[in-house]
Amino acid sequence: MVEIGKAIVSLDLFREYFTCDLEQCKGACCIEGDSGAPLAPGEPELLEQDYPRYRDFLPPDHRNVIENKGFSLVDSDGDVVTPLVLDRQCAYSYYDDQGILKCAVEKAWNEGYLNFRKPLSCHLFPVRITAYRHFDAVNYQKIEICRPGRECGKKIRMPLWRFLQVPLTRKYGEEWFAELQIAADQINRP
Ligand code: SF4
Repeated sequence: MVEIGKAIVSLDLFREYFTCDLEQCKGACCIEGDSGAPLAPGEPELLEQDYPRYRDFLPPDHRNVIENKGFSLVDSDGDVVTPLVLDRQCAYSYYDDQGILKCAVEKAWNEGYLNFRKPLSCHLFPVRITAYRHFDAVNYQKIEICRPGRECGKKIRMPLWRFLQVPLTRKYGEEWFAELQIAADQINRP
């Protein structure tokens, strides 16, 4: 593990290669799992405030879930998460015309309708950050649905830490990311 600021970073971020391959995985992380995506403090409010800007990208049944269950829920572990449709699919997701699951919030962001890109936990996946009292644990969640991401990353030799530059910088800032890069150089030095 590598300690940078208050983050304890797993060596997996330096050892694993990764690049999402949506054509192969079809955006499976929006549908697999026991509960919705974790939301950081303030994100449920942003999702609610921006709703009119991304609402039209969602299928009607997803809008019903959000409008009836709310913009976030507390799951059985006590975490604040996104609501699910049929207990499975993230209510903020939609299928594009290639049959790939995508995030409606990110689509609205891509098209310039809002400033909030998408929940940080989705942006960081397959890395998960668990906040403890004195430190954050930054870990890689190696799961079967992401096998295409591992294969694609290996093909183009893209390390996981580098692939996640934008969300890691969003979370910890540029200085922190520069330190991560130094750590990666040291770890990979022959
Ligand atoms: S995180 Fe995994 S399941 Fe989600 S888009 Fe990337 S490769 Fe696909």
